[in-house]
Amino acid sequence: MDASDLLRGALLQLSESDTVRRAVVAAPVSRAVVDRYVAGEAVEDAVSTTADLRATNRLATIDHLGEDVTDREQAARTRDTYIALLEALTEADLARYGATEVSVKLSAVGQSIPRDGDAIALDNARAVCEAAEKAGTTVTLDMEDHTTTDRTLETVRALRADFPWVGAVLQAYLHRTEADCRDLAGEGSRVRLCKGAYKEPESVAFQDGADVDLSYVRCLKVLMAGDGYPMVATHDPRLVEIAQALAGHHDRRPDSYELQMLLGIRDLEQKRIADRGHQMRVYVPFGRDWYGYLVRRLAERPANVRFFLRSLTSR
Ligand code: FAD
Repeated sequence: MDASDLLRGALLQLSESDTVRRAVVAAPVSRAVVDRYVAGEAVEDAVSTTADLRATNRLATIDHLGEDVTDREQAARTRDTYIALLEALTEADLARYGATEVSVKLSAVGQSIPRDGDAIALDNARAVCEAAEKAGTTVTLDMEDHTTTDRTLETVRALRADFPWVGAVLQAYLHRTEADCRDLAGEGSRVRLCKGAYKEPESVAFQDGADVDLSYVRCLKVLMAGDGYPMVATHDPRLVEIAQALAGHHDRRPDSYELQMLLGIRDLEQKRIADRGHQMRVYVPFGRDWYGYLVRRLAERPANVRFFLRSLTSR
Protein backbone atom coordinates (compact mmCIF):
# COMPACT_ATOMS: atom_id res chain seq x y z
CA MET A 1 0.00 0.00 0.00
CA ASP A 2 1.57 3.38 -0.97
CA ALA A 3 1.12 6.92 0.44
CA SER A 4 -1.75 7.78 -1.88
CA ASP A 5 -3.64 4.60 -0.83
CA LEU A 6 -3.18 5.71 2.81
CA LEU A 7 -4.44 9.24 2.06
CA ARG A 8 -7.39 7.79 0.17
CA GLY A 9 -8.27 5.62 3.17
CA ALA A 10 -8.02 8.58 5.56
CA LEU A 11 -10.24 10.74 3.35
CA LEU A 12 -12.85 8.02 2.98
CA GLN A 13 -12.92 7.70 6.76
CA LEU A 14 -13.50 11.49 6.97
CA SER A 15 -16.45 11.14 4.59
CA GLU A 16 -18.18 9.17 7.37
CA SER A 17 -17.42 11.61 10.24
CA ASP A 18 -20.31 13.82 11.33
CA THR A 19 -18.04 16.25 13.20
CA VAL A 20 -15.84 16.87 10.17
CA ARG A 21 -18.93 17.07 7.95
CA ARG A 22 -20.40 19.86 10.10
CA ALA A 23 -17.11 21.80 10.15
CA VAL A 24 -16.56 21.58 6.41
CA VAL A 25 -20.16 22.34 5.43
CA ALA A 26 -20.12 25.44 7.68
CA ALA A 27 -16.77 26.64 6.28
CA PRO A 28 -16.68 29.16 3.45
CA VAL A 29 -15.91 26.52 0.89
CA SER A 30 -15.21 28.20 -2.40
CA ARG A 31 -18.11 27.64 -4.80
CA ALA A 32 -15.52 26.67 -7.40
CA VAL A 33 -14.76 23.39 -5.61
CA VAL A 34 -18.37 22.30 -5.23
CA ASP A 35 -19.37 23.69 -8.63
CA ARG A 36 -16.77 21.60 -10.40
CA TYR A 37 -18.51 18.37 -9.42
CA VAL A 38 -22.09 19.39 -8.57
CA ALA A 39 -24.70 20.90 -10.93
CA GLY A 40 -26.27 23.14 -8.26
CA GLU A 41 -28.89 22.84 -5.54
CA ALA A 42 -32.21 22.97 -7.41
CA VAL A 43 -34.02 20.82 -9.98
CA GLU A 44 -33.65 23.71 -12.48
CA ASP A 45 -29.84 23.60 -12.05
CA ALA A 46 -29.79 19.88 -12.86
CA VAL A 47 -32.01 20.46 -15.89
CA SER A 48 -29.90 23.31 -17.24
CA THR A 49 -26.60 21.40 -16.77
CA THR A 50 -28.19 18.45 -18.58
CA ALA A 51 -29.32 20.68 -21.45
CA ASP A 52 -25.69 21.84 -21.83
CA LEU A 53 -24.48 18.24 -21.90
CA ARG A 54 -27.10 17.28 -24.47
CA ALA A 55 -25.92 20.19 -26.66
CA THR A 56 -22.58 18.38 -26.93
CA ASN A 57 -24.18 15.00 -27.66
CA ARG A 58 -23.67 13.62 -24.17
CA LEU A 59 -26.32 11.61 -22.33
CA ALA A 60 -26.94 12.14 -18.61
CA THR A 61 -27.94 10.35 -15.44
CA ILE A 62 -29.01 12.66 -12.61
CA ASP A 63 -28.48 11.96 -8.92
CA HIS A 64 -30.19 13.87 -6.13
CA LEU A 65 -27.45 14.14 -3.50
CA GLY A 66 -28.09 12.62 -0.08
CA GLU A 67 -27.53 9.28 1.61
CA ASP A 68 -28.12 7.42 4.88
CA VAL A 69 -31.49 9.03 5.45
CA THR A 70 -33.07 7.62 8.61
CA ASP A 71 -36.23 9.73 8.58
CA ARG A 72 -39.31 8.53 6.66
CA GLU A 73 -40.43 12.06 5.68
CA GLN A 74 -37.00 12.96 4.34
CA ALA A 75 -37.00 9.75 2.25
CA ALA A 76 -40.43 10.71 0.86
CA ARG A 77 -39.17 14.23 0.05
CA THR A 78 -36.26 12.75 -1.90
CA ARG A 79 -38.70 10.50 -3.83
CA ASP A 80 -40.84 13.55 -4.63
CA THR A 81 -37.81 15.54 -5.80
CA TYR A 82 -37.01 12.75 -8.27
CA ILE A 83 -40.60 12.78 -9.53
CA ALA A 84 -40.50 16.59 -9.95
CA LEU A 85 -37.15 16.25 -11.72
CA LEU A 86 -38.55 13.69 -14.18
CA GLU A 87 -41.50 16.00 -14.90
CA ALA A 88 -39.13 18.94 -15.49
CA LEU A 89 -37.00 16.80 -17.82
CA THR A 90 -40.11 15.84 -19.79
CA GLU A 91 -41.13 19.49 -20.01
CA ALA A 92 -37.68 20.36 -21.40
CA ASP A 93 -37.81 17.34 -23.73
CA LEU A 94 -34.60 15.92 -22.28
CA ALA A 95 -35.76 12.51 -21.02
CA ARG A 96 -37.20 10.74 -24.06
CA TYR A 97 -35.56 7.48 -25.24
CA GLY A 98 -33.44 7.44 -22.10
CA ALA A 99 -31.39 10.49 -23.14
CA THR A 100 -31.45 11.53 -19.50
CA GLU A 101 -32.16 8.96 -16.80
CA VAL A 102 -31.90 9.13 -13.01
CA SER A 103 -29.57 7.43 -10.53
CA VAL A 104 -31.00 6.64 -7.10
CA LYS A 105 -29.21 5.68 -3.88
CA LEU A 106 -31.52 3.40 -1.90
CA SER A 107 -30.17 4.82 1.37
CA ALA A 108 -31.53 8.22 0.27
CA VAL A 109 -35.06 6.84 -0.13
CA GLY A 110 -35.27 4.84 3.10
CA GLN A 111 -33.00 1.75 3.05
CA SER A 112 -31.21 2.85 6.26
CA ILE A 113 -34.41 3.28 8.26
CA PRO A 114 -34.42 0.65 11.03
CA ARG A 115 -36.73 -2.39 10.59
CA ASP A 116 -38.84 -1.42 7.51
CA GLY A 117 -36.04 0.26 5.55
CA ASP A 118 -35.95 -2.18 2.63
CA ALA A 119 -39.73 -2.07 2.13
CA ILE A 120 -39.83 1.76 2.37
CA ALA A 121 -36.95 2.10 -0.11
CA LEU A 122 -38.61 -0.36 -2.50
CA ASP A 123 -41.91 1.58 -2.40
CA ASN A 124 -40.16 4.91 -2.98
CA ALA A 125 -37.95 3.51 -5.75
CA ARG A 126 -41.05 2.00 -7.38
CA ALA A 127 -42.71 5.45 -7.44
CA VAL A 128 -39.58 6.91 -9.10
CA CYS A 129 -39.64 4.07 -11.66
CA GLU A 130 -43.30 4.81 -12.47
CA ALA A 131 -42.41 8.48 -13.08
CA ALA A 132 -39.41 7.44 -15.21
CA GLU A 133 -41.57 5.12 -17.31
CA LYS A 134 -44.01 7.97 -17.90
CA ALA A 135 -41.09 10.18 -18.99
CA GLY A 136 -39.81 7.50 -21.38
CA THR A 137 -36.60 6.87 -19.51
CA THR A 138 -34.85 4.56 -17.04
CA VAL A 139 -33.56 4.38 -13.46
CA THR A 140 -30.25 2.98 -12.21
CA LEU A 141 -29.81 2.10 -8.53
CA ASP A 142 -26.40 3.29 -7.31
CA MET A 143 -24.37 0.85 -5.19
CA GLU A 144 -23.24 1.92 -1.74
CA ASP A 145 -21.00 0.14 0.83
CA HIS A 146 -20.74 -3.66 0.86
CA THR A 147 -23.15 -4.11 3.78
CA THR A 148 -25.95 -3.07 1.39
CA THR A 149 -24.94 -5.05 -1.74
CA ASP A 150 -27.26 -8.06 -1.29
CA ARG A 151 -30.24 -5.90 -0.27
CA THR A 152 -29.71 -3.52 -3.18
CA LEU A 153 -29.47 -6.36 -5.72
CA GLU A 154 -32.61 -7.89 -4.18
CA THR A 155 -34.41 -4.54 -4.72
CA VAL A 156 -33.16 -4.40 -8.33
CA ARG A 157 -34.64 -7.89 -8.88
CA ALA A 158 -37.97 -6.89 -7.30
CA LEU A 159 -38.22 -3.73 -9.42
CA ARG A 160 -37.25 -5.54 -12.62
CA ALA A 161 -40.40 -7.68 -12.36
CA ASP A 162 -42.36 -4.55 -13.33
CA PHE A 163 -39.63 -2.36 -14.83
CA PRO A 164 -37.19 -4.69 -16.66
CA TRP A 165 -34.99 -1.73 -17.61
CA VAL A 166 -33.89 -0.91 -14.03
CA GLY A 167 -30.09 -0.71 -13.96
CA ALA A 168 -27.77 -2.19 -11.32
CA VAL A 169 -24.28 -1.02 -10.31
CA LEU A 170 -21.44 -3.45 -9.56
CA GLN A 171 -18.12 -2.45 -7.97
CA ALA A 172 -14.96 -4.13 -9.30
CA TYR A 173 -13.14 -3.75 -5.96
CA LEU A 174 -15.41 -6.35 -4.30
CA HIS A 175 -14.23 -9.98 -4.48
CA ARG A 176 -17.80 -11.10 -5.24
CA THR A 177 -18.32 -8.88 -8.30
CA GLU A 178 -17.11 -11.17 -11.08
CA ALA A 179 -19.73 -13.72 -9.97
CA ASP A 180 -22.39 -10.97 -9.76
CA CYS A 181 -21.50 -9.96 -13.34
CA ARG A 182 -22.18 -13.53 -14.49
CA ASP A 183 -25.58 -13.44 -12.75
CA LEU A 184 -26.47 -10.10 -14.32
CA ALA A 185 -25.09 -10.44 -17.87
CA GLY A 186 -28.36 -11.77 -19.31
CA GLU A 187 -30.54 -10.24 -22.00
CA GLY A 188 -31.98 -6.81 -21.25
CA SER A 189 -29.90 -6.40 -18.10
CA ARG A 190 -28.38 -2.94 -17.67
CA VAL A 191 -25.23 -3.07 -15.50
CA ARG A 192 -22.99 -0.15 -14.61
CA LEU A 193 -19.49 -1.34 -13.76
CA CYS A 194 -17.36 1.00 -11.60
CA LYS A 195 -14.24 0.52 -9.47
CA GLY A 196 -16.05 1.36 -6.20
CA ALA A 197 -15.85 4.48 -4.04
CA TYR A 198 -16.18 3.38 -0.38
CA LYS A 199 -13.66 2.34 2.26
CA GLU A 200 -14.01 -1.42 2.39
CA PRO A 201 -12.22 -4.05 4.51
CA GLU A 202 -9.71 -6.54 3.13
CA SER A 203 -12.12 -9.39 3.84
CA VAL A 204 -14.45 -8.23 1.05
CA ALA A 205 -12.46 -5.95 -1.27
CA PHE A 206 -9.16 -5.73 -3.14
CA GLN A 207 -7.03 -3.05 -1.47
CA ASP A 208 -4.43 -2.57 -4.17
CA GLY A 209 -5.28 -0.36 -7.17
CA ALA A 210 -3.68 -2.83 -9.62
CA ASP A 211 -5.83 -5.69 -8.28
CA VAL A 212 -8.96 -3.56 -8.65
CA ASP A 213 -8.02 -2.81 -12.28
CA LEU A 214 -7.48 -6.52 -13.03
CA SER A 215 -10.84 -7.34 -11.49
CA TYR A 216 -12.44 -4.55 -13.59
CA VAL A 217 -11.07 -6.15 -16.77
CA ARG A 218 -12.32 -9.63 -15.76
CA CYS A 219 -15.78 -8.16 -15.08
CA LEU A 220 -15.75 -6.24 -18.38
CA LYS A 221 -14.98 -9.47 -20.25
CA VAL A 222 -18.04 -11.14 -18.69
CA LEU A 223 -20.36 -8.20 -19.37
CA MET A 224 -19.18 -7.55 -22.94
CA ALA A 225 -19.49 -11.27 -23.80
CA GLY A 226 -23.01 -11.38 -22.33
CA ASP A 227 -26.37 -10.32 -23.74
CA GLY A 228 -26.96 -7.36 -21.45
CA TYR A 229 -26.24 -3.65 -21.78
CA PRO A 230 -22.88 -2.79 -20.12
CA MET A 231 -22.42 0.74 -18.76
CA VAL A 232 -18.68 1.27 -18.39
CA ALA A 233 -18.21 3.88 -15.65
CA THR A 234 -14.58 4.91 -15.40
CA HIS A 235 -12.24 7.80 -16.18
CA ASP A 236 -9.30 5.42 -16.50
CA PRO A 237 -8.06 5.74 -20.12
CA ARG A 238 -6.67 2.18 -20.16
CA LEU A 239 -9.98 0.70 -19.07
CA VAL A 240 -11.93 2.80 -21.59
CA GLU A 241 -9.61 1.48 -24.32
CA ILE A 242 -10.00 -2.13 -23.14
CA ALA A 243 -13.81 -1.76 -22.99
CA GLN A 244 -13.90 -0.47 -26.57
CA ALA A 245 -11.59 -3.27 -27.78
CA LEU A 246 -13.77 -5.90 -26.07
CA ALA A 247 -16.91 -4.36 -27.57
CA GLY A 248 -15.26 -4.64 -31.02
CA HIS A 249 -14.17 -8.22 -30.33
CA HIS A 250 -17.77 -9.19 -29.52
CA ASP A 251 -19.19 -7.29 -32.55
CA ARG A 252 -21.19 -5.01 -30.31
CA ARG A 253 -22.94 -2.14 -32.05
CA PRO A 254 -22.17 1.35 -30.62
CA ASP A 255 -25.71 1.50 -29.18
CA SER A 256 -25.34 -1.81 -27.30
CA TYR A 257 -23.19 -0.39 -24.49
CA GLU A 258 -22.18 3.00 -23.13
CA LEU A 259 -19.31 4.79 -21.41
CA GLN A 260 -20.00 6.87 -18.31
CA MET A 261 -18.04 9.55 -16.43
CA LEU A 262 -18.77 11.99 -13.60
CA LEU A 263 -19.62 15.66 -14.12
CA GLY A 264 -16.45 17.77 -13.99
CA ILE A 265 -13.97 14.96 -14.57
CA ARG A 266 -12.16 14.63 -17.94
CA ASP A 267 -14.69 16.94 -19.59
CA LEU A 268 -12.72 17.26 -22.84
CA GLU A 269 -12.31 13.52 -23.09
CA GLN A 270 -16.07 13.09 -22.57
CA LYS A 271 -16.74 15.42 -25.52
CA ARG A 272 -14.11 13.71 -27.66
CA ILE A 273 -15.64 10.27 -27.03
CA ALA A 274 -19.15 11.57 -27.84
CA ASP A 275 -17.86 13.30 -30.99
CA ARG A 276 -16.50 9.98 -32.20
CA GLY A 277 -20.01 8.53 -32.15
CA HIS A 278 -19.78 6.59 -28.87
CA GLN A 279 -22.49 6.84 -26.24
CA MET A 280 -21.11 8.90 -23.35
CA ARG A 281 -23.33 9.40 -20.30
CA VAL A 282 -22.42 11.93 -17.61
CA TYR A 283 -23.43 11.44 -13.97
CA VAL A 284 -24.87 14.76 -12.80
CA PRO A 285 -25.30 15.19 -9.02
CA PHE A 286 -27.39 18.05 -7.64
CA GLY A 287 -28.76 19.10 -4.26
CA ARG A 288 -27.54 20.55 -0.98
CA ASP A 289 -26.12 17.42 0.61
CA TRP A 290 -22.84 17.38 -1.33
CA TYR A 291 -20.35 16.57 1.46
CA GLY A 292 -20.07 12.74 1.21
CA TYR A 293 -20.02 12.86 -2.59
CA LEU A 294 -17.33 15.55 -2.69
CA VAL A 295 -15.00 13.83 -0.20
CA ARG A 296 -15.21 10.57 -2.18
CA ARG A 297 -14.17 12.52 -5.32
CA LEU A 298 -11.21 14.06 -3.44
CA ALA A 299 -10.15 10.63 -2.20
CA GLU A 300 -9.95 9.45 -5.82
CA ARG A 301 -7.41 12.13 -6.61
CA PRO A 302 -5.33 13.26 -3.65
CA ALA A 303 -3.85 16.07 -5.84
CA ASN A 304 -7.27 17.75 -5.51
CA VAL A 305 -6.95 17.90 -1.74
CA ARG A 306 -4.51 20.83 -1.73
CA PHE A 307 -6.89 22.79 -3.97
CA PHE A 308 -9.78 21.94 -1.65
CA LEU A 309 -7.91 22.88 1.57
CA ARG A 310 -6.89 26.23 0.04
CA SER A 311 -10.51 26.94 -0.81
CA LEU A 312 -11.56 26.29 2.80
CA THR A 313 -9.43 29.19 3.99
CA SER A 314 -9.99 31.65 1.13
CA ARG A 315 -13.06 33.85 0.79
P1 FAD B 1 -9.32 6.08 -11.05
O1 FAD B 1 -8.16 5.15 -11.06
O2 FAD B 1 -9.80 6.59 -9.73
O3 FAD B 1 -9.06 7.32 -11.98
C1 FAD B 1 -8.53 7.20 -13.29
C2 FAD B 1 -8.14 8.60 -13.76
O4 FAD B 1 -9.30 9.41 -13.86
C3 FAD B 1 -7.25 9.37 -12.77
O5 FAD B 1 -5.90 9.07 -12.97
C4 FAD B 1 -7.60 10.80 -13.10
O6 FAD B 1 -6.94 11.21 -14.27
C5 FAD B 1 -9.06 10.73 -13.39
N1 FAD B 1 -9.87 10.98 -12.16
C6 FAD B 1 -10.55 10.04 -11.44
N2 FAD B 1 -11.19 10.60 -10.41
C7 FAD B 1 -10.91 11.92 -10.46
C8 FAD B 1 -11.30 13.03 -9.67
N3 FAD B 1 -12.11 12.88 -8.61
N4 FAD B 1 -10.85 14.27 -10.01
C9 FAD B 1 -10.07 14.41 -11.10
N5 FAD B 1 -9.65 13.40 -11.89
C10 FAD B 1 -10.06 12.17 -11.58
N6 FAD B 1 -18.98 4.22 -7.10
C11 FAD B 1 -19.73 3.47 -6.26
O7 FAD B 1 -19.19 2.91 -5.29
N7 FAD B 1 -21.07 3.31 -6.49
C12 FAD B 1 -21.70 3.84 -7.56
O8 FAD B 1 -22.92 3.66 -7.71
C13 FAD B 1 -20.93 4.63 -8.46
N8 FAD B 1 -21.49 5.19 -9.56
C14 FAD B 1 -20.69 5.81 -10.48
C15 FAD B 1 -21.24 6.29 -11.67
C16 FAD B 1 -20.42 6.83 -12.65
C17 FAD B 1 -21.03 7.30 -13.93
C18 FAD B 1 -19.01 6.92 -12.43
C19 FAD B 1 -18.10 7.45 -13.49
C20 FAD B 1 -18.47 6.50 -11.24
C21 FAD B 1 -19.28 5.97 -10.25
N9 FAD B 1 -18.76 5.53 -9.03
C22 FAD B 1 -19.54 4.80 -8.17
C23 FAD B 1 -17.39 5.94 -8.62
C24 FAD B 1 -16.35 4.90 -9.00
O9 FAD B 1 -16.54 3.75 -8.20
C25 FAD B 1 -14.93 5.42 -8.78
O10 FAD B 1 -14.77 5.79 -7.45
C26 FAD B 1 -14.59 6.63 -9.65
O11 FAD B 1 -15.16 6.52 -10.92
C27 FAD B 1 -13.07 6.73 -9.84
O12 FAD B 1 -12.57 5.57 -10.45
P2 FAD B 1 -12.02 5.52 -11.97
O13 FAD B 1 -12.54 4.28 -12.58
O14 FAD B 1 -12.36 6.76 -12.66
O15 FAD B 1 -10.46 5.28 -11.81
